[in-house]
Amino acid sequence: MFSGIPGQAQPKAFFERAFREGTLAHAYLLAGPEGLAKTEFARELGAALVSRCGDCGACPDCERARAGLHPDLHLLEREGDVYRVAQIEPLIADLSLKPFSAAHRVWVIPEVEYLNPESANKLLKSIEEPPPHVIFLLVTDRLDRVLPTIVSRCQVVEFRPLSDGEVVGYLAERYQVDQVAAEALARLSLGSVERAARLAADAAGPRRREEYLRYAAAIVAGSRGSGGPAPDEAFLGVLAREQAEIAAQVEEDLRRRVAELERQFQDKKDLEWHVDQVEARAKRETVRRSRLAAQDALDLLVSWVRDLWVVASGADDVLWNSDHRDALVGAVAATPEHYARLLGLTAKTRKDLYLNVDQKLALQAMFARFEEVSSSA
Ligand SMILES: [Zn+2]
Repeated sequence: MFSGIPGQAQPKAFFERAFREGTLAHAYLLAGPEGLAKTEFARELGAALVSRCGDCGACPDCERARAGLHPDLHLLEREGDVYRVAQIEPLIADLSLKPFSAAHRVWVIPEVEYLNPESANKLLKSIEEPPPHVIFLLVTDRLDRVLPTIVSRCQVVEFRPLSDGEVVGYLAERYQVDQVAAEALARLSLGSVERAARLAADAAGPRRREEYLRYAAAIVAGSRGSGGPAPDEAFLGVLAREQAEIAAQVEEDLRRRVAELERQFQDKKDLEWHVDQVEARAKRETVRRSRLAAQDALDLLVSWVRDLWVVASGADDVLWNSDHRDALVGAVAATPEHYARLLGLTAKTRKDLYLNVDQKLALQAMFARFEEVSSSA
């Protein structure tokens, strides 16, 4: 169980014991920051719960469960901006059914902060007193946004960001990253395995981090470049290209899935329903990954300013971009207070990006405030 999940020793130990001793509760809420593989964790736990072998990992039962094809393991995914009642009602109608082959029926529900009050109300009673064989594994990145009535009826299991050492171990195991880079990426990942994986893939591939850092350095230095586009436009250009690549990847993936579905379903109505589902999922995936790209870009800029602050103030904190030490030392040209002020300006932008405000506008507004602060310095 949990072989694919890096870190999270406490949640793993907690569920392994409950699983072994047969003392699982009926509803858990897995909560913690984005990028810790919580939904994958819930799916692995669910797969173990519905396998008759007790999670051997090798039998057809286990294989089906891990592939997401087991009739006793359900993954509910948000189909629109929120979980609507129309999505919750069939689930509730389904709850009383006996398991097909397992001892349990398990529902994994990610992003429960998106249950609207009406849907949450429908679900509440079932979470409180479900049929004995039912287990809910709810997941959220934003515990503060989950309706309190839901939280209070679940056992909350907290996921924490990985330590730098855990991320370095994870990167060493799965990616060809040298030690110096792995340590820098671990700090930049802020304990998120998903972000560490994105950074590692970038280091081996397009090396966008280098581009972002180069333009971030020019933006902070207030240099207007010679000839070519201004550094802030160049920074946004890198982001635009990255987001276009994301959209193209998701589109390609979607085409492949639709082709698979066309082979699988002969009935036109069935096919249409499944195609609608994968199209909606692709749309959400594009939005999500585009937002993450914008957040990563902002955080790289923040990491640069933060490191300039460290060097300028003579603090002996470890540099996040420790693989760019010489460039950072050479780039310091202002007081620590100046860099601290710039860092303060990034906080609002980070919130805006999370709330899906127009990303380009949010970043442009931040660059304009950077310029104001720099010219008044
Ligand atoms: Zn098995």
